[in-house]
Amino acid sequence: MSADLQFTVEPNTKPASDDQRASILANPGFGQNFSDHMAIATWTKEQGWHDARITAFGPLELSPATAVFHYAQSIFEGMKAYRHPDDSIHAFRPEANARRFNRSAQRLALPELPEEAFLDAVRRVVTIDKDWVPAGGESSLYLRPVMFGSDPYLGVRPSAQVTFLVMASPAGSYFPNGVKPVRIWLSEEYTRAAPGGTGAAKAAGNYAASLVAQAEAVEQGCDQVAFLDAIERKWLEELGGMNLYFVLDDNSVVTPELSGTILEGITRDSILKLVTDLGHTVTERKISIDEWRDGAASGRIREVFACGTAAVITPVASLKWHGGEVQVGDGEAGPVTAAVRTALLDVQYGRAADTHNWMTRIC
Ligand SMILES: *Cc1c(COP(=O)(O)O)cnc(C)c1O
Repeated sequence: MSADLQFTVEPNTKPASDDQRASILANPGFGQNFSDHMAIATWTKEQGWHDARITAFGPLELSPATAVFHYAQSIFEGMKAYRHPDDSIHAFRPEANARRFNRSAQRLALPELPEEAFLDAVRRVVTIDKDWVPAGGESSLYLRPVMFGSDPYLGVRPSAQVTFLVMASPAGSYFPNGVKPVRIWLSEEYTRAAPGGTGAAKAAGNYAASLVAQAEAVEQGCDQVAFLDAIERKWLEELGGMNLYFVLDDNSVVTPELSGTILEGITRDSILKLVTDLGHTVTERKISIDEWRDGAASGRIREVFACGTAAVITPVASLKWHGGEVQVGDGEAGPVTAAVRTALLDVQYGRAADTHNWMTRIC
């Protein structure tokens, strides 16, 4: 039964050779190479969760009528496994990902996965593929749990069959040449999430809907897009896949409050605690786009940074919109941004005491 879902292990009979793996790990990039194994489990209305396996990473065979292709009933997570100086391997707050996965599942009418099964799948994939966890710099093994409607049926209803997968992809430093502040494009035409919609869920469709705005940002010479609330088009929400933080001239820190349309980032939540540890006052509240524009121009806003699992903490150099651009500070990473970034990475890579009990040793 689903409460004690057991993953059986079918070792990959054709794993990458040591040489192949070493050459991938020498320059892993992001999201392009995958380890030897994945976790997979199936849910049906009749049987609940079953057929849970750790097996060779490889293609799935799916009917063209598979529900997810047509109706986007799909959610995912993003998390990392880190190699510590003593070669032990650790995950950062994996139980928070397990909980959020179930919140997302509920919104997308997907079945809940017992948190223990989620954690067990992650643990087993990382353990069997521990040689795929890179060492050095800010490299990690990026883990991608995903759940989608896999019923071969074109009727519109919650899928009666669902697939859960965990794949693992070695990732290099996000900024191999040093942290580079990004330019942000303000999307005035497109919004990401509306009240009552799926913005607070890590739903695949949210990303599909953000791509055209992201493409506009790139056309404008920017790196990322910032979205406003869908009703007043006034309040800052977040980027396509990262939350936002502001450092003010009195050294206080603010971040947009969770409004039901913002994705509740685990990095965002961790930073709330880290900036307090660093001696800053931190407030979650509404931040208008005018507060950003005027505050950056007047110097009231000293630093802006974005945060998420993949890029950790990314300094923001400027905000651009149709008809103008304003630089933040001197356009370089500010001291608070740098201190928060170091504090978080030091915990994740085992260089600082884990005072919040965030790390889970996997093997
Ligand atoms: C995943 C995600 C984030 C960041 O969440 P973390 O848990 O910090 O990785 C922020 N915004 C969106 C829209 C996301 O999908």
